[in-house]
Amino acid sequence: MNTLTVLGSGDPFGAGGRGQSCALYQDAQGALLLDCGGGALAALKRHGLDPAQIDAVLISHLHGDHFAGLPFLVLEQRLAKRTRPLVLAGPPDLAARLSKLLDALYEGASKKVLGYPLSFVVLQPGSALTVAGRLVRAFAASHMHPAAGALSLRIGPLAWSGDTAWSPELLSCAEGSVLLLCECTSLEPLADHLSWSEIRTRLPLGARRIVLTHAGAEVRNARAEIEANGVLLSDDGTSIDFEP
Ligand SMILES: [Zn+2]
Repeated sequence: MNTLTVLGSGDPFGAGGRGQSCALYQDAQGALLLDCGGGALAALKRHGLDPAQIDAVLISHLHGDHFAGLPFLVLEQRLAKRTRPLVLAGPPDLAARLSKLLDALYEGASKKVLGYPLSFVVLQPGSALTVAGRLVRAFAASHMHPAAGALSLRIGPLAWSGDTAWSPELLSCAEGSVLLLCECTSLEPLADHLSWSEIRTRLPLGARRIVLTHAGAEVRNARAEIEANGVLLSDDGTSIDFEP
């Protein structure tokens, strides 16, 4: 049984008091963190999930609500005396941006000896790479300037939209998936993001089940209508078990 636990189900601005983008995906091999927004480390601990179990963190794109929590995770694992490797996978600039962020938050932190191997895997649209033992296929998300490399990702039975405007690439990513973790920022179309009206007219998007995340306040208020369409609107802590 695989489990997806949504730890941060909110938009960047804390709609409904929900946290920024983060989910823990547990499969037969271990655990992957999907995005690491601000507050992700506390969210893991709040739900009794040990950060030491994370094999890799996949970052969909380099916006703060998706990677601002990384410095705290990386430094906490140093204090927790982690010895096994941690892999960080994401767009090409991930390593450089994390280094800058570490130093902005704690001067000199990027030079600290962590005591465990930290490595980076660059994910780009069209790539199919092994990350911590899992095949991860990357698709171009329609979000920010294309050169920034925002991604939708497919990890075995799980499809994950990242942040994206409507794009046929999302269907390619989700086709045949058991579970699609899909952003839904607004009710009506909005630049750079998906809306419920776009999702609703294209259900089931090639996926067996859909769980929405990154929800703004108006989406939160439409829960009854969303769930009447067989789509789950996640909250922080929503956990879904599924057969891969
Ligand atoms: Zn976002």
